Amino acid sequence: MRVRFWGTRGSCPTPGADTVRYGGNTTCLELRTASGALVILDAGTGIRELGRSLVAGANGEAIRGDIFFSHAHWDHIQGLPFFTPAFQSGNDFTLWGAPSLFGSLGVVLRQQMSPVVFPVAFDDLGARMEFRELQSNRHEGAGYSMRAIPVRHPGGALGFRFDAQDAPGQGLVFIPDNELDAAGADAPEASTRDELLAFVRGARVLVHDAMYTGTEYMHHRGWGHSSYRDAIEFALDAGVETLVLFHHDPERTDDAMDEQLALCRQMVEERKGVLDVQGAMEGVTLELD
Ligand SMILES: [Zn+2]
Ligand SMILES: [Zn+2]
Repeated sequence: MRVRFWGTRGSCPTPGADTVRYGGNTTCLELRTASGALVILDAGTGIRELGRSLVAGANGEAIRGDIFFSHAHWDHIQGLPFFTPAFQSGNDFTLWGAPSLFGSLGVVLRQQMSPVVFPVAFDDLGARMEFRELQSNRHEGAGYSMRAIPVRHPGGALGFRFDAQDAPGQGLVFIPDNELDAAGADAPEASTRDELLAFVRGARVLVHDAMYTGTEYMHHRGWGHSSYRDAIEFALDAGVETLVLFHHDPERTDDAMDEQLALCRQMVEERKGVLDVQGAMEGVTLELD
């Protein structure tokens, strides 16, 4: 399997010279299984460029794939009205949401394309767009196994784990929005730290919310996001090979991100840990096996 980052930014798109390296588009990842099956994780503004790439590579063939939604906050859905393959008949997408979010997912995706705010209605999209509810937070797809877990985020959100069916244990965990500090956001369904650790353990790559410095976090406790330090400590405890810092704060410039990344790597060294820490970068592809 391999994963490509099309949107790495949290909360709000941030185009401009200061964010060109880590990227200004909001959350969207493309996961490809060994057989080439397409899995899309969230539909922030990064999905627009992904759509262009899919159309360019389709050679007129139908495009089909699964789209998993961690939750329906703006930065995870706002690219969908600009996802070109959704406008083309013959294409086929399954939109997956948690039972707790399921009703609201369809409502919110339609509302963001209601005539007051967008010229084309969701139900006028040319592609087949089928909503499916995740049953028992598990799904067996084309060459991959998916598991989901509720995390700590206002309104509720999911983290996902994907393992290749023929190579379990080399998986990808994607937790874009999560407050690791248990004293943070009030989220009754959130899993405990131990449950999250068990979920992540054995995965090769963890893509996790790392939005704030320690000082910033003090002012944003309860907003549903994690500090760099908490993400590092969690990844070390989970024993993953690679931690990808994700959901960059809109105020974080590329240079500031470099500084935070250096501090994170220093933190790993001080703990005598073994962990490759990266900052999520738009356009980068990671091989998972
Ligand atoms: Zn978000
Ligand atoms: Zn969110």
